[in-house]
Amino acid sequence: FQGQVTLDGPSGTGKSSVARAVAVRLGAAYLDTGAMYRAATVAVLTAGVDPEDADAVARTVGSASIEVGTTAGEERVLVDGVDVAARIRGGEVTRAVSPVSAVPAVRRQLVDQQRALVAGAAAVVVEGRDIGTVVLPDATCKIYLTAAPEVRAQRRAGQLGLTDEAEVAALAADLRRRDEYDSSRADSPLRPAGDAVVVDSTDLDRDAVVDRVVSLALT
Ligand code: C5P
Repeated sequence: FQGQVTLDGPSGTGKSSVARAVAVRLGAAYLDTGAMYRAATVAVLTAGVDPEDADAVARTVGSASIEVGTTAGEERVLVDGVDVAARIRGGEVTRAVSPVSAVPAVRRQLVDQQRALVAGAAAVVVEGRDIGTVVLPDATCKIYLTAAPEVRAQRRAGQLGLTDEAEVAALAADLRRRDEYDSSRADSPLRPAGDAVVVDSTDLDRDAVVDRVVSLALT
């Protein structure tokens, strides 16, 4: 395989695990752009900056060094030389990443960095929200992964170790509300590119989704 595969879509669709498996199957490099927005958020929190203060966020991220690996097998994420691979998955970062990633200067900076990171790769899988629309509009294969909010909530609950039905229902309601919010914003990064193939994983297990994406990439 040679070319670029973009894998976009909301959280809870199994996107990350699918993207990594597809990269391994295709022998391609891999870039997790969500990890970069999470790393930018670590820089903001470490500086003691309010994530809602857009000007201060732009300044802080602008002077931070964010390094990410491009191999599916190993997660390498450094902020100003410090390994933050574990910290970016924590609740503190997850709660603060939305306002940080909504700052236009942050998006410009990270989009430039993402393009530079994949520029030399003969084959690469890039996952995020706006890869097929903004980052790599000329990509050879664009996938938009979706799943019903109930299924995404179940998967998220599994990751969080929640079993209580009311808690899972609350997660589903929250995902539905965020879907509506995201798709109603005119500047929302969360929408399929016109030439993306939409893959609905509601009734598919991970291996079936991986097979489908690999076969789309190879056609
Ligand atoms: O994919 P992940 O959940 O790690 O992404 C974390 C957050 O980063 C998302 O909720 C979104 O706010 C932001 N993001 C983005 N654009 C991308 C990837 C992630 O705005 N391409």
